[in-house]
Amino acid sequence: MKILVAVKRAIDYNVKARPKSDGSGVELANVKMSMNPFDEIAVEEAIRLQEAGTAQEIIAISVGPKQCQETLRTAMAMGADRGILVETDEEMQPLAVAKILQAIVDKEQPGLVILGKQAIDDDSNQTGQMLAALLNWSQGTFACAVEFVDGGIKVNREVDGGTQSVSLTLPAVVTTDLRLNEPRYVKLPNIMKAKKKQLDTFSPADLNVDVTPRLKLVKVEEPPVRKGGVKVADVAELVAKLRNEAKVI
Ligand code: AMP
Repeated sequence: MKILVAVKRAIDYNVKARPKSDGSGVELANVKMSMNPFDEIAVEEAIRLQEAGTAQEIIAISVGPKQCQETLRTAMAMGADRGILVETDEEMQPLAVAKILQAIVDKEQPGLVILGKQAIDDDSNQTGQMLAALLNWSQGTFACAVEFVDGGIKVNREVDGGTQSVSLTLPAVVTTDLRLNEPRYVKLPNIMKAKKKQLDTFSPADLNVDVTPRLKLVKVEEPPVRKGGVKVADVAELVAKLRNEAKVI
């Protein structure tokens, strides 16, 4: 079985995101970019399935500018066998990414697609679900455990207040949550080996996918600065302040 893993190049999770001065988006100039953390978990899970003998080939795919090659090389240094870059400088919204992934699925025929549950830049949490709908495949989102049983897979999902277990028929789409695994560190020799692995590049037009944005970004702004708190002596003072100053009760 082939596994396709979607890896997005996103702002590094240690960087504090700041709006552009004109509010037209998030400032990306001179900002450190890395693989979206949930996608590292997705790559790790695919490698573990390959190590367990369940998967034969892992293909990493990234959609975005040329620099996404670095993200793909990281996935290949972790253990993915080859990479696919769908190169575009256009803004890529979840539906467009899902359609591109669908086109690659048609080409590659994987038995499983693993994505992150969300990209930490747009926080959309949509691409995996949209892809499953477009393909009409089973989906197990927010996965914290994945196990192959009787020709299908059992996915434990993080839900409010606990976990839910679902049995999926293959082919399927799985999206990863934080507790699924701890991604391995990339070793230097593997970084060198990854440079020689196959990386194919397509454009959205090669795949016949219309990537026109469907959503319009109105404005990006910092959240209001939090005001300092005050200490109150007792409940009576708290209630009085809520009623007379904050006017919320
Ligand atoms: P989102 O729906 O934008 O929160 O993203 C969910 C997941 O979809 C991410 O964790 C990635 O696995 C995948 N994804 C989203 N955008 C891209 C992209 N441009 N390239 C590759 N994978 C992506």
